[in-house]
Amino acid sequence: MLILEFLKKNKVCSHSKVRPDVDFAYCPDCGELIENQWYMIRCACCGIKLPAIIKNGEIVPEKHFCHNCGGREYTVERIDKINFIDISYAVLVKAVVENNNTSFTQSWVSSETQDCRPKLLQQSL
Ligand SMILES: [Zn+2]
Ligand SMILES: [Zn+2]
Repeated sequence: MLILEFLKKNKVCSHSKVRPDVDFAYCPDCGELIENQWYMIRCACCGIKLPAIIKNGEIVPEKHFCHNCGGREYTVERIDKINFIDISYAVLVKAVVENNNTSFTQSWVSSETQDCRPKLLQQSL
């Protein structure tokens, strides 16, 4: 019984209930904030889109070489908004968003506005 509970807690959540059509969502299984990140692979030689897969946690091309030019070099690029044309090539990574990142951004923004705003107002007068 104890062993079973231990295994359950350490099970890695695949966040399978997070819908792929939203940017952010809380996973109903583990409660983490999940960001849907789309990635696409292009041939570094001719720039054609290559079907991507996730293998051992890495984004890699489905084939080991480009079907257009035979090149083996490729680049992985992040897509901000997925569209219907790219969806067959792209892979979806469900990344956990750490809370620390958002609080850091907020404090940076507020300190910047305090420093810059008086100067900007003086200049415009
Ligand atoms: Zn989850
Ligand atoms: Zn190519």
